[in-house]
Amino acid sequence: MITLDRIEMFLLGLPLVHEFETSSHRKGHLEHILVRVTDVDGATGWGESACPTDPFFCNENVETCWLMLRDYLAPALLGVSWETPADAVRGLGHVKGNNFARAALDIACWDLCSRRQEISVAAALGGTAFSVQAGVSLGIEPTIDALLEQVALHVGQGYRRIKLKIKPGWDIEPTRRVRDEFPGVGLQVDANGAYDGSLADLAVFNKLDDLNLLMIEQPFEETNLLAHSRLQRNLRTPICLDETITTASMAETALAMGACRIINVKVSRLGGLGPARAVHDLCRSQGVPAWCGGMHEFGIGRAANVALASLPGFTLPSDVSGSDKYFAEDVVQPPVLAADGAVPVPFDRQGLGHEVIWSRLQDHLLRTAELTAGQ
Ligand code: MG
Repeated sequence: MITLDRIEMFLLGLPLVHEFETSSHRKGHLEHILVRVTDVDGATGWGESACPTDPFFCNENVETCWLMLRDYLAPALLGVSWETPADAVRGLGHVKGNNFARAALDIACWDLCSRRQEISVAAALGGTAFSVQAGVSLGIEPTIDALLEQVALHVGQGYRRIKLKIKPGWDIEPTRRVRDEFPGVGLQVDANGAYDGSLADLAVFNKLDDLNLLMIEQPFEETNLLAHSRLQRNLRTPICLDETITTASMAETALAMGACRIINVKVSRLGGLGPARAVHDLCRSQGVPAWCGGMHEFGIGRAANVALASLPGFTLPSDVSGSDKYFAEDVVQPPVLAADGAVPVPFDRQGLGHEVIWSRLQDHLLRTAELTAGQ
């Protein structure tokens, strides 16, 4: 049995090497929360909440995550005995939603638990792939030429799948130009729910349908399963859902309604590795292609994504690119890096397989909190 007696929280800010724009916002640096859990024997595990600073992707933000972790989730985990990470997070079931916050503790429990067993998190999850094919997600650029430059840069680095962020007014033309100039590259687009299903929008998706895309991700608002289902019936290109899939039951409902043919499985959005694995298992049992998405994680969250992406049902390239694409210096060693478009899975190292560099964490530290059992 494992009993946690200390949970530390660290809010860190890291500058991005290249500004990133989606349909809703533009970012030059990111703030994420890292947590370290320590059990009564002194064993530790790290987790990350990769929640965006602002509530533009989901209804959480960094401050709500901090509050939920400090006032509800971490206190509920301290001093309680459990055997598996699934048991640990089951004890948080009375707190509704707040998946990005709870993901930090879920990941930390998997890290600690697998370190105690002297195995990797990837092995603990049942992962089988020794490397994960990485794709990159490219933001909205000021011009199409700037976008083509970014695509050329990443194709040159060996990435074979490119995802473009789109929004109304930045959709058909940039996608067509990339398709024309890079005919051999796997190409997909992500709208982050920016369209509303009007006739003008449907014309956009009909045009995108002719560009030989791997998928069109989250065209409409996350709760609108009906609009996705109607659009999917009229497209050859598979729709992939991201923001909609917050639980395994939502994934099951979306598939049953024909609202998508592909699912983007995200550790953060689903509340951790356990619930993300459950959605992977569902997709695999139904023969639905799935891939592992990301939220521009720092090293700890990125390592968790790599571990998850090693599961056998992830048949499409993941969004798990090297962290050097986003950050000049990450807070873990070794860094998570892609070589020739693939990220190796560290089955030979314990836990997540990446250690936090304490001095670097201090360099980027904005705030810290410590909770202990019986406090
Ligand atoms: Mg997405």
